[in-house]
Amino acid sequence: MKYGIIGYSGRMGQAIEELFAEAGHQLVYKKDEKTTKEIEKPELIIDFSLKEAFAETVAIVKAKEVPLIIGTTGLEAADFAKLKELAAEVAVIQSFNFSIGINILSELIQKVNNYLDQDWDIEISETHHRFKKDKPSGTAIMLSELLDQNPEMHSKRLGSEFGEHEIDFASTGELLTLKHRAYSREAFSKGVLISAQKIINMEPGFYKFSQILK
Ligand code: NAD
Repeated sequence: MKYGIIGYSGRMGQAIEELFAEAGHQLVYKKDEKTTKEIEKPELIIDFSLKEAFAETVAIVKAKEVPLIIGTTGLEAADFAKLKELAAEVAVIQSFNFSIGINILSELIQKVNNYLDQDWDIEISETHHRFKKDKPSGTAIMLSELLDQNPEMHSKRLGSEFGEHEIDFASTGELLTLKHRAYSREAFSKGVLISAQKIINMEPGFYKFSQILK
């Protein structure tokens, strides 16, 4: 397939380009903060950039009338409203975490949530590399929204950690811990590749990555 990346020079942009090249796909449109290069019209656009790029990304996707996969974090309610408006015209797949493990973890958290009463404390801890701008991570926010209680959140920004999320559930007599760690950015780019292979044949609509996996 012929695809485009917004945020192509970033850490995730590079990881996606590498995996897609191995799978034989061609990068024909690339944009970052300073440059735009278009060889051909892409069949889909992938955005892993920063929140500041969001309005322009929506405008570009609208103008090109191609599907969008968006993994950029820091998006807020108003941004989701715009994505849903865009999804009336093209297919949009969004997730704050495209790793398969985090999506399995999400299902486990929902299961645990069904057993909890007020006697349980819940805390979410996340660690990411020192360059990550948003805090807490989009994934930590996404996981917290699966729970009835509002958990305490803890963030660390250390070295080159790709992404670690731990959820502790404790009552006065016991502790249950669920933990996920990404070993590399391939954890996320693999999920983007799965999404790209599907989105080019999908009807307009707003889809979460978890729906694509099922
Ligand atoms: P990065 O800082 O390495 O790269 C950011 C990229 O965005 C750069 O290419 C930069 O030039 C570009 N950019 C910045 N402002 C722009 C603008 N106004 N217009 C166009 N491009 C612009 O960041 P990263 O580590 O590659 O992460 C990118 C995004 O992906 C972040 O929001 C991060 O939190 C998110 N992320 C999501 C997942 C997921 O699975 N959903 C996984 C990892 C990272």
